[in-house]
Amino acid sequence: MPGYLTHIIFGHKILPENIKNVKMYNLGLMGPDILYYDKSDPKYKIIADTLHEIDSTNLIKRLKQESREYALGFFLHNYLDKKIHPRILILERTTNKSHTKIETIIDAALLKKEWNTKVAKLDKNFFPQRLPASFIRIFEEELYRSFGIEDVHLKDIYHTFLKNFSLLYEFYYLKAVLVYIMYLITFGNFNYKDYYIFKTPSVDILKDYGIDILWKEAIKEVVPLVKGIF
Ligand SMILES: [Zn+2]
Repeated sequence: MPGYLTHIIFGHKILPENIKNVKMYNLGLMGPDILYYDKSDPKYKIIADTLHEIDSTNLIKRLKQESREYALGFFLHNYLDKKIHPRILILERTTNKSHTKIETIIDAALLKKEWNTKVAKLDKNFFPQRLPASFIRIFEEELYRSFGIEDVHLKDIYHTFLKNFSLLYEFYYLKAVLVYIMYLITFGNFNYKDYYIFKTPSVDILKDYGIDILWKEAIKEVVPLVKGIF
């Protein structure tokens, strides 16, 4: 899957004018990935994987009644995953880099190309502080109704996501160094180093990786799709 910044940059590339709650839109752009930030229970990874695989039309429809912004973001997340994920799998084989490392490189290169900034400098205050109770209720209800997924406590998951997101990305360079030291002294057992990048890659890498062409295609394809649904 593409990294979180690729999703956010993509969403903002096609940001419809009538989007009011940009933070809910950003959260929608994270799609089911927020569940991956909670490693306390292996079931969250399974649920996130499932939500990537199943048809989420009903979930999106239901969520649209509560937050149009969130639903649109969620739709775009799924769309971009499907578009770019296969390419990243190929790159894993051809570059011998980890999935995460490739995502991090693409995130940084796109950020440079589209927003002309660096990951370390970016203000990462993307998401709402808390979620509306009605949104949480509807999300949990719909997971159960459509997919039989129960025991998802979205309020807690969201709290963990926000905490771990800032743990990873606040004070970026400091974290990058700490994570690298931890990697060395644990002989690779503590392995978060691929989430960071010290030097912004050249934007040419988007061409070399074949992302450039997919990105352009995606923007062209998705605009009429969005108009049809939202
Ligand atoms: Zn995803």
